[in-house]
Amino acid sequence: MADITVIGSNMIDLTAYVDRMPIEGETIEAPEFSMGFGGKGANQAIAAARLGSDVNFITMVGNDDFGKQQLANYESSGIRTDGIGIGHQASGVAPIFVDPTSDNRILIIKGANKELTPAVLDEKVDLIKNSKLIVLQQEIALETNYHAIDLGVKYGVPVLLNPAPANEDLNIDYVSKVAFFTPNETELATLTGMPTNNLDEIKLAADNLIQRGVGNLIITLGSKGALWVTEGHSEIVAGMKVKAVDTTGAGDSFIGSFSHYYAAGEDVPTALQHANQYAAMTVTKKGTQKSYPTKEELTDMLV
Ligand code: ADP
Repeated sequence: MADITVIGSNMIDLTAYVDRMPIEGETIEAPEFSMGFGGKGANQAIAAARLGSDVNFITMVGNDDFGKQQLANYESSGIRTDGIGIGHQASGVAPIFVDPTSDNRILIIKGANKELTPAVLDEKVDLIKNSKLIVLQQEIALETNYHAIDLGVKYGVPVLLNPAPANEDLNIDYVSKVAFFTPNETELATLTGMPTNNLDEIKLAADNLIQRGVGNLIITLGSKGALWVTEGHSEIVAGMKVKAVDTTGAGDSFIGSFSHYYAAGEDVPTALQHANQYAAMTVTKKGTQKSYPTKEELTDMLV
């Protein structure tokens, strides 16, 4: 039995560091390029696995070199790969432009990720029902997530839904069936149509979701940490003060590590405190998955 089943996307990030963004019709030279493993599902699975969780990852890669590299990456991180399918389309890629001020422009070509359908989950149902937590994000079809939530309810496995990237079509009826719903401030604003510019506004928007049946809301607040809201209770779990170098993938490291600590038996505030710590360490290094420490590296970083 695995601890965690992550159902979601994988991408290859193709990042060009540009002196400035090209304008329409223009070709310019970018001084630097880097390739990295990404995709929200993959990032969260990697974070949990590096901390020592036994992770099933259910995703679809392409029948191409990128797909093979993805599989090798999961294997070397100790992730179970029996949930990974090979699709007909090319592997998902994300061409990214980053300028010297860290402004970025990102394209996502989902490719094989689009073949992660509800029927694929039915084929993998034995993996899903034998886990302690199901973890979902929104780079795959909403229908697939809805089916995963239904399977979680059917087999009594708690579900964490991280509604990133924001999708205003998300059906709130499904959200009320999950154990944990984890938007950031922007995603909370999109879902409720309410402003989230300060803590008072965030709490009002959170209450709106609680009244619509959401059980546990965890709202990530960047360097400030996270706000946990349940019926009749709200509490801020403060973030760790660090010198941030690159916050790309911070949200995914937070969700992956929270899932690890929660599935390992910690209560919610303790798991949140540890997730803040883990995510804070990742922002002190460049890159997405490259910045996610193992359990041993984390211990060394915290002394
Ligand atoms: P997202 O990337 O989804 O917008 P956030 O920016 O809210 O997510 O960050 C997720 C988590 O990462 C936060 O809850 C916090 O634990 C950690 N984090 C992010 N930025 C910082 C920072 N500058 N310093 C310390 N921790 C941070």
